[in-house]
Amino acid sequence: LFISLEGGDGGGKTTQMPRVHEFLSGPESPFVGFSSGADGSRPGGAPTGPPVLRTKEPGGSALGAELRSLILHSDHVADRAEALMYAADRAHHVETVIRPHLDAGGIVLTDRYLDSSVAYQGAGRTLPVEDVESLSMWAVGGLMPNLTLLLDIAPQKLAERRDVGTHDRLEREALDFHERVRSAYLERAAKEPDRWAVIDAGAGIDEVTEQLRDAITGWART
Ligand code: C5P
Ligand code: MG
Repeated sequence: LFISLEGGDGGGKTTQMPRVHEFLSGPESPFVGFSSGADGSRPGGAPTGPPVLRTKEPGGSALGAELRSLILHSDHVADRAEALMYAADRAHHVETVIRPHLDAGGIVLTDRYLDSSVAYQGAGRTLPVEDVESLSMWAVGGLMPNLTLLLDIAPQKLAERRDVGTHDRLEREALDFHERVRSAYLERAAKEPDRWAVIDAGAGIDEVTEQLRDAITGWART
């Protein structure tokens, strides 16, 4: 079982990841009893589901961490180079981290996956979305999450929250960029509603966690 958490910057993924991990690893997980080959219980303890691996992109492997710092700390990376670097990071992440855990019957929870590339390198950087998608699908050998949780919030709302002005040219550009990213996510979610759950990330932290738990439980029932 493969679950990804997606969304724009500042939407709370980093805060929610450990909370979702805890839920999936605990006795309230809807996947307790989910067949994994393991017997799903700890000696003397409450029953638990399959082992949950928490990981992230970019930088979910040692090579990925180097790619991440190259991408994020270079003054300028050409758009196509950026798309290839994220795809390379993801290819390595899938082969060395994600697939082995899935093959062993575990649950993988990742902070960002392929939909990030479609949203950021495709819609954000305005590379052709279909190209970014097919490049990424090739990189991961077609592996897609079973469930994708989208932490959705208007970039304008985040800018207000952070008290960042949106008046100068650079900040306006940044806002446009983040709006394209958000729209791309929402479009993908609308096209594939069985895979996606859209969460209102503008709610309070605990409320967002509750929405995430409900989305996972609801999805597991179907
Ligand atoms: O999620 P995290 O904050 O670790 O992401 C690091 C940065 O990389 C973010 O600023 C995000 O916008 C960017 N990113 C990107 N394209 C991706 C994945 C992440 O531009 N495919
Ligand atoms: Mg983050």
